[in-house]
Amino acid sequence: MSGRIPREFIDDLLVRVDIVDLIDSHTPLKKTGSNYVACCPFHTEKTPSFSVNRNKQFFHCFGCGISGNSISFLMNLNNLEFVEAVEDLAAFAGVAVPRETTTHQAEEKKEDLKSLYQLMDQTANFYVQQLRNSDEGKKAVDYLKIRGINGDCANEFILGYAPNEWNALANSFDHKALIKAGLLVNKEGGQVYDRFRNRIIFPIRDKRGRIIGFGGRVMDDSLPKYLNSPETTLFHKGNEVYGLYELLKKNPKPPQILIVEGYMDVISLSQFGINYAVAALGTAISQTHLNLLFRFSPEIVLCFDGDKAGRSAAWKAMEPVFLSLKDNRSCRIMMLPHNQDPDSLIRKEGLTNFTLRVQTAQALSDYFFEHISEKLNLSEMEGRAQLVGNAKPYIEKLPQGIFREMMLSRLKTISGISTLNTLEITSKSKAPYTEKKISIIATHSAPAKSARTATALLLQNPRLIHNLNQKDFNWDELEIRGIELFKNIQQVILTKSTINTAILIEHYRNTANEKAVKALASLDLYVSENNIDMVFTDTLNSLLKQAKYATIAKLETKAKNQGLDVHEQQLLIKILTDK
Ligand SMILES: [Zn+2]
Repeated sequence: MSGRIPREFIDDLLVRVDIVDLIDSHTPLKKTGSNYVACCPFHTEKTPSFSVNRNKQFFHCFGCGISGNSISFLMNLNNLEFVEAVEDLAAFAGVAVPRETTTHQAEEKKEDLKSLYQLMDQTANFYVQQLRNSDEGKKAVDYLKIRGINGDCANEFILGYAPNEWNALANSFDHKALIKAGLLVNKEGGQVYDRFRNRIIFPIRDKRGRIIGFGGRVMDDSLPKYLNSPETTLFHKGNEVYGLYELLKKNPKPPQILIVEGYMDVISLSQFGINYAVAALGTAISQTHLNLLFRFSPEIVLCFDGDKAGRSAAWKAMEPVFLSLKDNRSCRIMMLPHNQDPDSLIRKEGLTNFTLRVQTAQALSDYFFEHISEKLNLSEMEGRAQLVGNAKPYIEKLPQGIFREMMLSRLKTISGISTLNTLEITSKSKAPYTEKKISIIATHSAPAKSARTATALLLQNPRLIHNLNQKDFNWDELEIRGIELFKNIQQVILTKSTINTAILIEHYRNTANEKAVKALASLDLYVSENNIDMVFTDTLNSLLKQAKYATIAKLETKAKNQGLDVHEQQLLIKILTDK
């Protein structure tokens, strides 16, 4: 499949498929009033807080805060990427996904990528041949044998050997392509040489199994011990982990994923039967890594060496971990005994003991509070105050939800401070999800409140655009906070041939307004169906009135202090005489 999916097709699909039917086919729904409810498929609960609205074609969970349209539902339910979810939704509707014809340039770029992937395959194959068939490769095979890697494992991970030559690859493949792939290094004067020499080669595959880069490890004590492909069109270290493809092939939904430090750890654990380990590629664990892994498993165990560097790496991982923790996700921290890595430990202890270590790894909360109170004297008030100060920035990073509440309550217990209102954590976390998100665009002032109501009404009932068109408002002359989004939604509705709330939400996917739009779409305004038009008109009128007063007040103040220019004078007269 290639080419962009036309936006109109996605809009049509969101009208064609009824979200109630779609969700009901996965999670049986019950009708209550104008909504359908169920126990949330995205978090564990006993009483239903997951609600689906047919008019809006929108779902929202009051428990975990998740919300969206049919596409979002499938993305979340099956860990799909956007295009995959659109394809599944089209299949549900029984229609084929059309693709926009690609431009010549895009076609060329695609060809480039295709040949780059091909080159990666050919290179991997070249390294494998070097390992198996060359005289020099024998020492690499011996090395792998000493490290206890058997042939099956070497095959599975496509292990290879880069000969100890400057031009082994350079003599076999096109230079320009090799440079693009990061496999040749450009010297000054235009000369080139192989990046990987005299190393065991570990091809790095993306989650779909395509080789995107290589890692190389020395067989002695020389440095650097590990060398990776540089960033290329295909390879982005911060987005990829080593071993994910091999892991998913064995188990697409592993109950947990273990993150270790190096390739050898992943491979030797796999050989011992731990086939749920991956490694970061010479970078610290990032939120992107964690979000990627959480798509496949609800629990991540972060494994660190027991030395000083390992302990410091564990603490550094707290920030990305906290940012990625939603209610249905959990993390554990596994510190290894001193001078051991997963490879050496599993050889020493065997599978059963190692598995036990993984299963009994320290809960994130225990690790966090233990580490953060390490050097503090909690019997003194000063120590407890410092604990709160240190913990606060981390807890604030946690997404809303039960885990955050529990961490906060534990902080209260440990610090002995029962009211942590001064931290502004409690107030935030107690507020309903919708309220918190709406604060992004609203202040407590009356015009902003009206703007919020008007925006929510329009978003939830796009047909109200007709009421709006009958009004002669010049929004640009009036200053109202939060009205920008209202104006924007108005414009979007006018460009669409079919429209509902789901289409609007789709329009704002991956934009700065996405959160605000979703929050407004799920905001309950307590307006009955019959009164919607009236409330909308009233809201607009009062919005206009409030905005006029505010503008008059502003202009009068300016008139007193600085005086008004011609345009401002005219505006003031116009507002004052307007009915
Ligand atoms: Zn939920």
